Amino acid sequence: MKPFLTALLLVMATIIRAEDGKSLILEAIDAGVKAESQARTAIHSRNQSQDEETKLIYWSAAREANAKAKSAYDSAISLTQTEYGLSFPPVQDPKAARSTAQDGAWTEGLPAPRAATFMQPNYRRIRGNDGDFHFVSDVPEGDDADRVMALTDPDGRITILSFAMKMAAEYHEPGILASTIHHENHHYLELITTGWDTHEQMEIRAFTTSADAVDAFIPASNQTLREALKESIATVIAAKTAALQAGDVHSPFPSKEQERGADHGSRMPDIDKLPWQQLRGIASRGW
Ligand SMILES: [Zn+2]
Repeated sequence: MKPFLTALLLVMATIIRAEDGKSLILEAIDAGVKAESQARTAIHSRNQSQDEETKLIYWSAAREANAKAKSAYDSAISLTQTEYGLSFPPVQDPKAARSTAQDGAWTEGLPAPRAATFMQPNYRRIRGNDGDFHFVSDVPEGDDADRVMALTDPDGRITILSFAMKMAAEYHEPGILASTIHHENHHYLELITTGWDTHEQMEIRAFTTSADAVDAFIPASNQTLREALKESIATVIAAKTAALQAGDVHSPFPSKEQERGADHGSRMPDIDKLPWQQLRGIASRGW
């Protein structure tokens, strides 16, 4: 076979493989979105129902659908990491580095193996180096609460939230999920190397890597999405920079008061509200 033709066929094979990979990811994401929607319907029916036994049946249907969503989303995350080369290089015995942030002293030296999975927003409990339990991973209440795409915790866990999946599904673009994981990888890398400082500085650095990576994750055929993401990222960087300059900085760790004030019960997320948000203005704590 002529070398040119061989090369062309190889290129085509690569493209086809890439498209296959992407459609597998989208299939998994779509299955998760569908299951989450079934869970919402079941919760709605439960709330409408007067009878205790019927309530229980809907509740267990909702839990089952949520479990199905998690399983589909977890495979989407795993496929995305493979497809986009986002699996973190193995690190021997990774530990959280010393943090200069307020209320972060309890994290230094904690084992921090990286694990990226889907989770509903909820508190997680981590035992600190002080022997006490600390509560992390909550998604703050407020306007932006439903727009947090992902979180990284000081024990190395990367949590991907529904919003990242919804965005990827809505735009038929797994690169959105890839970009989210890439961003959290930056937080993780700093966790086990330089340590975390302020939320604002961390996001400026992480979003700078996100901005640089947009073209790698979003295909040139979707210029609109590329531009929208870049604009959104630039807005966040500008806001965090302004906050930093004004001295309005925050710790990436909850304060003791916030930990004490929080309801640490296993909080079933309010899956009735999950409004679809606009792509613009992803400005929020987590992403
Ligand atoms: Zn971030």
